[in-house]
Amino acid sequence: MFLRRKKGTKPAHYKTLVSIINDKGFKSLSDYELKQQISDYKERYSKYLHNSNENFNTRDSQQFINEYLTKCYAITKEICRRVLGLDPYDSQLLTGIALYFGKIAELPTGEGKTLAAVFPAVLNALSGKGAHILTFNDYLAKRDAQWMKDIYEFWGLKAAYIQEDMDRLQRRNSYLADITYVTPKEAGFDYLRDSIVYDKDEIVHRPFNSVIVDEADAILIDEARTPLVLAGSMGMQHEIDKGLLELAGLLRRNIDYMTDENSRNVYLTETGAAVVENFLGCGNLYNKKNVEILTDINNLLHAKVLLKQDIDYIIKDGRIEIIDEFTGRVAERRKWDYGLQRSLEALKGIKSTSSNRILGKITIQNFISLYPEMSGMTATAKSSEDEFRSTYKHDVYVVQPNKKCIRTDYDDYIYTHKEAKYKAVVEEVLTSHNQGRPVLIGTSNIRESEKLAYMLKQQGIECEVLNAKNDTEEAKIIALAGKLGAVTVSTNMAGRGVDIKLGGDSPEERKKVSELGGLYVIGTNRNECVRIDNQLRGRAGRQGDPGSSRFFISLEDDLLVQFGIKKVIPVKYCGFRQLERINDKKLLSLIYHIQRVVNGQNFEIRKTLGKYSYLLEWQRRRFMKSRFEVLSCNVPGFLAIEKKELYKELCSKYGKERVDEIQRKVSLHCMDEVWYDFLEYLENIKEGINLVSAGRKDPVDEFNKLSINKFEQLQEDINEKILNTLDNIDFSMDASQLADRGLQTPSATWTYIINDSIKVKNFTLFSRL
Ligand code: ADP
Ligand code: MG
Repeated sequence: MFLRRKKGTKPAHYKTLVSIINDKGFKSLSDYELKQQISDYKERYSKYLHNSNENFNTRDSQQFINEYLTKCYAITKEICRRVLGLDPYDSQLLTGIALYFGKIAELPTGEGKTLAAVFPAVLNALSGKGAHILTFNDYLAKRDAQWMKDIYEFWGLKAAYIQEDMDRLQRRNSYLADITYVTPKEAGFDYLRDSIVYDKDEIVHRPFNSVIVDEADAILIDEARTPLVLAGSMGMQHEIDKGLLELAGLLRRNIDYMTDENSRNVYLTETGAAVVENFLGCGNLYNKKNVEILTDINNLLHAKVLLKQDIDYIIKDGRIEIIDEFTGRVAERRKWDYGLQRSLEALKGIKSTSSNRILGKITIQNFISLYPEMSGMTATAKSSEDEFRSTYKHDVYVVQPNKKCIRTDYDDYIYTHKEAKYKAVVEEVLTSHNQGRPVLIGTSNIRESEKLAYMLKQQGIECEVLNAKNDTEEAKIIALAGKLGAVTVSTNMAGRGVDIKLGGDSPEERKKVSELGGLYVIGTNRNECVRIDNQLRGRAGRQGDPGSSRFFISLEDDLLVQFGIKKVIPVKYCGFRQLERINDKKLLSLIYHIQRVVNGQNFEIRKTLGKYSYLLEWQRRRFMKSRFEVLSCNVPGFLAIEKKELYKELCSKYGKERVDEIQRKVSLHCMDEVWYDFLEYLENIKEGINLVSAGRKDPVDEFNKLSINKFEQLQEDINEKILNTLDNIDFSMDASQLADRGLQTPSATWTYIINDSIKVKNFTLFSRL
């Protein structure tokens, strides 16, 4: 998108670089001598950067790679040995090299990616501009920074991390470190908060330099479209009309409204539209003047029909809490888009909490593209190679594990219905458990986890259920999933990044567990994305350990039902129930096919969503650039240009400094106000436009057209607002009086995450095979 990429060395040559690194003999040096090598290296490196004018291509040149990259990596390798007692494998060096060259590196779970990332992080950080490593959660940010910090320290580099509960000062200090471990959410929210300050000193980030994204598939694909939102408290917003609420209750399924076959969308039928028009007497519902009503009705229907209590959300302490579909946990501080949240609250008779205003918003994907250099690593990248290439223009580079993976991935067992499936899972767990073999069961949501745990308990099997409220607790539990006799039930994303050692830390137990076949991973559902299934399988068989995996699925599973399996399976399976599994290879390949189709469809949806934000991203950069200029006092104030006489007069009366300062504050205030209006305008048209233009025009085009028009007016609106405000301002006011009038960084702000709200039209997927 907006990224610079290094082209330098071809992947075919990475292995040659590894041999060069391994041939550099630093082993025999004393610590003192090694440190001398380091200071010598740093001195030469800074001269090199200086002489080459810090041209970007410099660090990409053959000379740089031969002299600096290989030496830096060789020294770092020796440091690892000394301070961590770990001798980096060639696979880790290869990963580290691929990361330096901007690849998405694939290396299986448990192969030591944390350590591999240190190599490029050191090299990137040596330029003095900071290097970020994005981790999957706060727990891992802290763990990895603390774990690796001695290696950086040996280089004279400082590593730090960010946690959600840190204050501004702590954050700034962490960003000032050479290497910062942080989640994309925290870094993104900090960026948003930075963009509303009134004083340059309040900014916590440094200019973005390089970033390495851990669990890159989860962050760059699964969560990439998630918008981070910064909001501030404002007055109450309009309430949903009581009449509409009543009306929503009257509308009849399959008559007044339909859901599409995947239950992703709900639509009013023509009959339904007529019912609404009669009821409200509003004339043609699809007229532009009725956009708001249409949007409200649609949101109400969506909330009523598609959102399920205890699956999509729970109600706790009179509040709606969203359940994350991946982790099955309550997604703290997350809300749906404004309209949907408000509709659900109205339906449930809950007092509306959404009286806030959007002060800034950015998707994780767009945030990451602010870094001039990006690379990523994960255990599962190859199967999403196309998406990495098309969305980010980054190639996947697959690294072979240090020891060959000997895990056996069995074909799925298929059952006709869910109960038969769960029964079989319990029997399978029982068999393994009786031998003492550890089992890890991956489910698709909390409910399923709890149901299975209950069924297992009835069979006398005690198990750990991963629905911990915090990642630290979760990590402790999952780390023990490889112990003798352990049974762990977990949603399929929980515990990412945590190492599962066979037998825990006991070598004797490790031996026993290995003889039993290692960890057995059971999946109770196929995910919409095969990559996530692979991620689950990968929990077994780390570093050449024995292990196996199998999915148990049923024809009633959500994935298959939602995507209309009934229409495509052989008729003999329709409505048929049996306890034994179905042994049918053709059926199995049909199911794999459905999974691929769904996967492709989700990719298309993400692409469409990306189109909506592309333009806004460009607009945001333009706006932020001019805001930063005003913040840095680089532009003369409006009065100085437009009303020279008045300006002179004010200056002689109050002093130039004060007049300029007030002008600056007023300008920032007005710019922000107009910008917030712009963001809200886009939110509104985004919801409305899809409904109004459905079927006629391309909604993305329509959206962009309106957005461009509005953006072109922005500067004018801002200027007008500034002049108006300046006309009415009393230049004798002191700082606190100005603050009372809102001329300061908003103090009550909070952050949350929403699910992107665009409803994407579905396409027909398959005909009967
Ligand atoms: P990943 O992120 O690839 O899943 P981690 O970074 O969590 O893997 O590391 C997994 C385990 O491998 C850790 O226990 C770590 O100590 C160990 N490890 C990493 N590198 C080495 C090495 N070179 N030699 C031995 N053990 C290593
Ligand atoms: Mg990891």
